[in-house]
Amino acid sequence: MTDPEILKAFKCTGCGECCRWSGSVLLTNSDIAKIASHLELSEQEFIDHQTRLAPNRIQLALLDKEDGSCSFLKSDRCSIYETRPEQCRSFPFAWSVPDGCPALDTLLTPQKNIE
Ligand code: SF4
Repeated sequence: MTDPEILKAFKCTGCGECCRWSGSVLLTNSDIAKIASHLELSEQEFIDHQTRLAPNRIQLALLDKEDGSCSFLKSDRCSIYETRPEQCRSFPFAWSVPDGCPALDTLLTPQKNIE
């Protein structure tokens, strides 16, 4: 999924599907500061209660629920949408994207049909 035109045309519909995929939502220092402030927590409180060490052992990631979905997904919506992490904002750029994102699948369908 590298076609820049397709990436440019992508518009998130907020369906929450990608928030249910397993994997790590990696956090930048700026993400931590913004989300902690949004939740009215200190950065340390946010780190202690809402994050885990990512498999790369050099970054923090958001906690997952038992089913693998993001802990901030509530009623099929991101509960921190205004301050969601950069990785989420830049979807699908930094993601390993399987089928299942309705907006992306719609864009990719014509391309798949001619491959
Ligand atoms: S932070 Fe929000 S947008 Fe990002 S994966 Fe979690 S629920 Fe989805």
